[in-house]
Amino acid sequence: MTRFRTLDDLGDVRGKRALVRVDLNVPMQDGAVSDDTRLRSTLPTVTELADKGATVLLLAHFGRPKGERRPDMSLAQVTKAYSHVLGRDVRFIDDCCGDGARAAVATLAPGDIAILDNTRFHAGEEKNDPALADAMAQLGDLYVNDAFSAAHRAHASTEGLAHRLPAYAGRAMQAELEALERALGRPERPVAAVVGGAKVSTKLDVLRHLVAKVDHLIIGGGMANTFLAARGVDVGKSLAEHDLETTALEILDAAERADCTVHLPYDVVVAKAFAANPPSMRTCNVHEVAADEMILDVGPAAVEALADALKTCRTLVWNGPLGAFETPPFDAATVALARTAAALTQEGSLVSVAGGGDTVAALNQAGVADDFTFVSTAGGAFLEWMEGKTLPGVKALERE
Ligand code: ADP
Ligand code: MG
Repeated sequence: MTRFRTLDDLGDVRGKRALVRVDLNVPMQDGAVSDDTRLRSTLPTVTELADKGATVLLLAHFGRPKGERRPDMSLAQVTKAYSHVLGRDVRFIDDCCGDGARAAVATLAPGDIAILDNTRFHAGEEKNDPALADAMAQLGDLYVNDAFSAAHRAHASTEGLAHRLPAYAGRAMQAELEALERALGRPERPVAAVVGGAKVSTKLDVLRHLVAKVDHLIIGGGMANTFLAARGVDVGKSLAEHDLETTALEILDAAERADCTVHLPYDVVVAKAFAANPPSMRTCNVHEVAADEMILDVGPAAVEALADALKTCRTLVWNGPLGAFETPPFDAATVALARTAAALTQEGSLVSVAGGGDTVAALNQAGVADDFTFVSTAGGAFLEWMEGKTLPGVKALERE
């Protein structure tokens, strides 16, 4: 039994009004949705509820209107694209609470689907105002949260509502929670974590949490430079946060006490200029970086050793690229290790979970996102979960 009620626990919902918190915060370009990934991720929950005869009322935020009603942030703009992706009619209701919304909802039939306008048009949304949560709750008979990406925020539509109506995790939320549970909650050991990206400062809490949880911590990207510098390596012009060297040493100490093996690169790809295929590019030992060079990727020998370490692991959680992957060929280490992880996953020997905006882009670039066990598109929520934090929107769904 899961710790959460899911749609499996629903019972007969025919004629019931389901308030479903989803993430419709899609990027727009010239009035059109430019990436409909988030819209598509809501489909299993929405079609299942509609097919069971519920009246489906979608709640979501869009942009940051900060409590003001702004036409340029109205979900009316997304309704047509959503209807297209869903392949069904979708109504639009111009408020997420109040008499007008109630009257509009009353005209809907079982199986109908409507988008209610931007929850953030009400200042009470981000304040988790009980009055707003009460007002929204009046529109529904039950609450489904399918927006993991908004679950790190205790807002009226992500947290408050869950205390006012019978609350369930939607299918996308359920998949995300199950994947995260497999990766760090009760993982099969040994567990490896890859933490990369630009800066240590943005992921200090992630590193601190992971050293106590995982057996292998693979540090790459710009943040590896700070760790190398802390260990006395001259990293030249590399991106590094020298003021965090003491912190880096503390993390290494904590890892040692927790029996967590930390992997730092021992060879690296360096260049004098940050550009695609710069002529000054070369591979060298970390102790041979010149004063005018910068480290832009993990070297091939280190990647091979990391791949060997991964082969001994049963679980992998990955956040952050190993190098400056947007600029070729500094994506080589990230792509190579991602392909190894993907192959091990496909062989059935590894559970692999990855997340983070740039990480997802890098995995797509490597062409392996679909071969991982789970790839989370929830940026902030995924990171807070990697920090070991309790997400308020998830906590509110837990069974009493
Ligand atoms: P995510 O979005 O997956 O959490 P981050 O935002 O933390 O990842 O980090 C991604 C960024 O880190 C990328 O823009 C990448 O270019 C940068 N990066 C990785 N390695 C290096 C490096 N050695 N030097 C400079 N930047 C790097
Ligand atoms: Mg990023």
